[in-house]
Amino acid sequence: MNAVLDAMENGTISRRVWFYANYHCNLECSYCLTESSPRAPRRQLDHSLMKSLTRQAADLGFTEVGVTGGETFLDLALPATLAEMSESVPVIVLTNGTLFAGDRLERLAPMLGRQISMQISLDSANPDLNDMARGPENFAKVVESIPRLINAGHRVRIASTGQAPDEESQEALCTLHRSLGISDDDHVVRPIVRRGRGATFDGSVPAGPDELFPELTITADGAFWSPFAPTVSNDHVDTDLLVSRTVEPLSVPAQRLVALAQGRPVGSDVANNIR
Ligand code: SF4
Repeated sequence: MNAVLDAMENGTISRRVWFYANYHCNLECSYCLTESSPRAPRRQLDHSLMKSLTRQAADLGFTEVGVTGGETFLDLALPATLAEMSESVPVIVLTNGTLFAGDRLERLAPMLGRQISMQISLDSANPDLNDMARGPENFAKVVESIPRLINAGHRVRIASTGQAPDEESQEALCTLHRSLGISDDDHVVRPIVRRGRGATFDGSVPAGPDELFPELTITADGAFWSPFAPTVSNDHVDTDLLVSRTVEPLSVPAQRLVALAQGRPVGSDVANNIR
């Protein structure tokens, strides 16, 4: 167990554990790593398992949990589960931000006052460009949702995915996120990763073990090298970066990840900005 803690302390692996809560989504983005859509198999992680593994993660020395999908908030029980998970470590949950109108917003109440941040996707200040990849009306829904969430007391970050924008586009995006109440520190820009639907994009960045920082990632299909690893191609989960089919106890995949990551040269994840 000390090997896992040592590996975190010396930077061999990340101190964050990720969970793929589900793979289905109300959207069908053109660069989606997981081929998510309303028709995609759900591949849901049991909530009891996520809560148990989060407690185990804290015991092992992990200091943060990330929850991703698919669209995570399609599962109406998620807010209560996130609240319980956040009793062990801070939680960041990724969402497309399109489901928070009416009583859907009220359903997030269990998350209030907890160490939980929501990371919402918004790719461009140009609605047409944004919606080209993410679908009609996406821009309008997201820019309406973000102030609504902040006013309700939620912590929100924005993630923008795409090729590095030119200076003018970047400035427009920053002006927009600031106007929505999101500080520069809470805005991240990420490239399209060459996996899943992103594999066919010009300008996408490679994402193998040499490029991805080891961040233990738990899915319904096993434990993986990074949240960019359990992608989907032609309806099948890619297993080239599978670490272990066993996910519990968490010490098993954690030790396996450390063994695989030991002695590896520093990857190009920092240069490519794909952490
Ligand atoms: S990129 Fe995100 S929002 Fe878009 S289809 Fe995939 S999971 Fe859904």
